[in-house]
Amino acid sequence: RLFMSTNRKLVYFFGGGATEGRFDMKDLLGGKGAGLAGMSRSGAPVPEGFTITTDVCRKYYFSSESRLFKAVPGFKKQFDEGLEKLEKVSGKKLGDPSNPLLVSVRSGAKFSMPGMMDTILNLGLNSSCVEGSAALTGDRRFALDSYRRFIQMFADVVRDTGKERFEEILDAEVRRVGVSSDRELNEVSLERVVERYKDLYRVLTKDEFPEDPREQLIAAIEAVFRSWKNARAVTYRKANNISDKLCTACNVQKMVFGNMGADCGTGVGFTRDPASGEKVFYGEYLANAQGEDVVAGIRTPLPISNLAETHPKANRDLIKITKRLEKKYRDMQDFEFTVEQKKLYILQTRVGKRTPLAELRIAVDMVREKLITKQEALLRVRPESLDQLLKPIFDAEERKNHRVLAKGLPAGPGAASGRIFFTAEAAVAAAPRGPVLLLRAETNPDDIAGMMAAEGILTATGGLTSHAAVVGRGMGKVCVVGCGAVRIDGLSVHIAGHRFEAGDYLSLDGFTGEVIEDEVSTQPSDILQILLGKMDPKESPIFAYYEQLMKWADQTRRLGVRANADRPEEALVARALGAEGIGLCRTEHMFFGEKRISRVLAMIVAQTPQERRQALDALYPMQKKDFKEILKAMEDLPVTIRTLDPPLHEFLPHDNEEAERRARAANLDPNAVWEASRRLKETNPMLGHRGCRLGTTHPEITEMQAGAVLAAVAELREEGVKTYPEIMIPLVGTAAEFKGQAKIVRDASERASGKRKGGYKLGTMIEVPRATLVAGEISETADFFSFGTNDLTQMVFGYSRDDYGKFIDAYLDKGILPMDPFQTIDREGVGRLVKLALDEARKLNPKFKAGVCGEHGGDPASIGFFHEIGLDYVSCSPYRVPAARLAAAQAVVAGKNGGEPDK
Ligand code: PEP
Ligand code: MG
Repeated sequence: RLFMSTNRKLVYFFGGGATEGRFDMKDLLGGKGAGLAGMSRSGAPVPEGFTITTDVCRKYYFSSESRLFKAVPGFKKQFDEGLEKLEKVSGKKLGDPSNPLLVSVRSGAKFSMPGMMDTILNLGLNSSCVEGSAALTGDRRFALDSYRRFIQMFADVVRDTGKERFEEILDAEVRRVGVSSDRELNEVSLERVVERYKDLYRVLTKDEFPEDPREQLIAAIEAVFRSWKNARAVTYRKANNISDKLCTACNVQKMVFGNMGADCGTGVGFTRDPASGEKVFYGEYLANAQGEDVVAGIRTPLPISNLAETHPKANRDLIKITKRLEKKYRDMQDFEFTVEQKKLYILQTRVGKRTPLAELRIAVDMVREKLITKQEALLRVRPESLDQLLKPIFDAEERKNHRVLAKGLPAGPGAASGRIFFTAEAAVAAAPRGPVLLLRAETNPDDIAGMMAAEGILTATGGLTSHAAVVGRGMGKVCVVGCGAVRIDGLSVHIAGHRFEAGDYLSLDGFTGEVIEDEVSTQPSDILQILLGKMDPKESPIFAYYEQLMKWADQTRRLGVRANADRPEEALVARALGAEGIGLCRTEHMFFGEKRISRVLAMIVAQTPQERRQALDALYPMQKKDFKEILKAMEDLPVTIRTLDPPLHEFLPHDNEEAERRARAANLDPNAVWEASRRLKETNPMLGHRGCRLGTTHPEITEMQAGAVLAAVAELREEGVKTYPEIMIPLVGTAAEFKGQAKIVRDASERASGKRKGGYKLGTMIEVPRATLVAGEISETADFFSFGTNDLTQMVFGYSRDDYGKFIDAYLDKGILPMDPFQTIDREGVGRLVKLALDEARKLNPKFKAGVCGEHGGDPASIGFFHEIGLDYVSCSPYRVPAARLAAAQAVVAGKNGGEPDK
């Protein structure tokens, strides 16, 4: 099937009202060729030419013949016809000194491979045509300069000579005549350069430079096809998963010139403003110039409005044509054009890149203009763009003036600038005097207060689900983790050879993971301010667009979206951003803070159950208050409250000095505290004495927490607040573990209300691989599952959540893993277990409720998977809720089984 039948069409003409291809023929014509055909068909003035199909390249690629005409039977005839037509339509002739046709020869594969393959310009020049061209344009200098460029390009591309020795000749001439650049060389100099180029060509290739333009053209086409095989292109295809068999097309197109005098020019533009998305024609224009001049920044282009003054007709045509192209391609276009002696040519059009703001605005506007459907609009905005729109951002201009010191993993989006501190206490103490950043080798629950006080968090180790990442992101902090270039020693930090002290300024870019020198100003997000009632919607140019898109997303999606939130303030942000409940409240975060941590210490060092109960009794009213606040903030919505999860040593001091200080504060024996700290130390805390294992050895903890939740619910009911509490047990691996914890919760309920069930739900996290295998049995006693994909990923891969940062980059670079599995769910492994567990539970109860609360719940690619397998909801950090709502809608639009589980 790779090869064509003998009478297949191999050459497609475009332009001059005789276009044969279509814009949907990318397989055969490549992206560029299909684009040229599409543009020509919609009446755009495209310089005429023809596209040689990928079939020809494929046949040539797999042939042992080095000559194209021999390798591809039937091609010569079609090539001759194409060339003849091009000459007829253009009114010029290849090699005719009185009216020479000059062409460009360019590659163009189905998928764009920028700069990977070869291009030749000004083909058709030889010693007589260069004079013809000079006479025709009245600019001999220009003709000679084109010729010398062509010789160099041809030698390099077709004969593989490299460019360096040609550059040397040019530089030598510049030096010899004493000008500052080759732009100032005159005709005499350029004539010399051309002659010396031809000499060099002879030396390097042992051939004369071909005078016959037809010979030039065939050699150039062969070279373009050969460039499919060059090392750069092969590597690029490998990296981008593009098949070698696709091959490239080759476009032969009449050259037009924007640099032939004052009535010429070149420019680029957009059909809408790519920064704001506003529907205004936007672009830049340079008179008497070539595209290169604009790109290289040699001259500063003028606003496109200038074209209207100098060439009103070309300007009118440009607006009309590009509007038509936008309509045809149904998206904002980014185009290149040239004016040659007052006549407009469109050289290229493609879907334009844009800012997140413009992305949102253009998508919504285009629905209103009936250019696209709501479903298409939902697919056109990337969930990441919504993340960006919600976060504070750096002042773009100011940022350019600051050096990037190092790069870590971007764990929490946004921009933060502030004074740096190396301990939570120092950060807390300094925060009232201005923004601070907390820098730690890694964070642990002890650092919570410092993390809360900080605008941003930077750690030297840890991956995207490390404590700093999960907690920092949940708090909406800007967070960069695993930045290996950071070395903290006591009172200073070394970052890639620079030393900073506590109190110095740094900035963190949570979108890119960059650590930036000094302070950079930031701007808050309008959308969030409006949603929290702190700004008038009328003041924001973008809010109405956001509201509209989110409305469409909510009407479309099937998956519920909840938030992971531990405190009432976070819950309120989550609610404002559209969360339909809390999918995970990690209660351990309520145990920090002066008074509480002392009670927790007392609970841990307790020698008898009575002593422990006493300490827990002191914690009880505080927990009840916490639960009341969060349940109230989420009135009318479900709140999943998880019993204590982390290993107890996380609450303990790390050295003797700290033990003394904290023991004194808690009125405890320092020796007992230090002894407990050593006894409970674990080498891998994430697999140790935590989750329901704690609840099993210390049933009083579960009992206290469940009692506090149920009491909070009862009190809120008295106050007329409707709540939907869900108590959740972490780290369950066996049905018996869950049953044991369930009994404690049911008993607490019975004590509180006389009823074992009702008024609350009781479920479990599924995050231990074994639990996924026995999920059916566990589901018999549980009301719901919430998949803890952080721990599940950790345990399925056997990668420690906090240490995998040390090798993940190498794994990604070597292609051992296609993506970071802590960021995007590993469908084949971890995902398969999630599906298995869900299917087991749904076999017994088709309506069994299940969600996910690991970090994957906020990852758009993973959300697609959760939608496909039929989970009920995802739960993610509050700031990711809008992106998750959109991703859930996209999953529906993408038509992935319409939400039915995979069969
Ligand atoms: C999980 O493991 O996915 C989870 C949500 O729990 P945590 O991150 O608190 O361990
Ligand atoms: Mg977990």
